[in-house]
Amino acid sequence: MIRRKKQEPIVRKPIRRKCTVCEKVRLIDYTKSIMPQSTEVYVKGGKKKKRLDVNGAIHYHYCEECRNEVFA
Ligand SMILES: [Zn+2]
Repeated sequence: MIRRKKQEPIVRKPIRRKCTVCEKVRLIDYTKSIMPQSTEVYVKGGKKKKRLDVNGAIHYHYCEECRNEVFA
């Protein structure tokens, strides 16, 4: 029996993006993604696209300051 690694939360490197709330380009460490209805057939174990690479997806970027306000 293969022991699986404990799942860890995804910690993404902060990226410089325009914050959706304050509209300033800042280091973004929280991004909310609204994914479009997938037109591709889901393949189990298939190649996964990065969420930021998916066409038609809407991303809301929050800088640390705004994130603390929005998700207080
Ligand atoms: Zn902000």
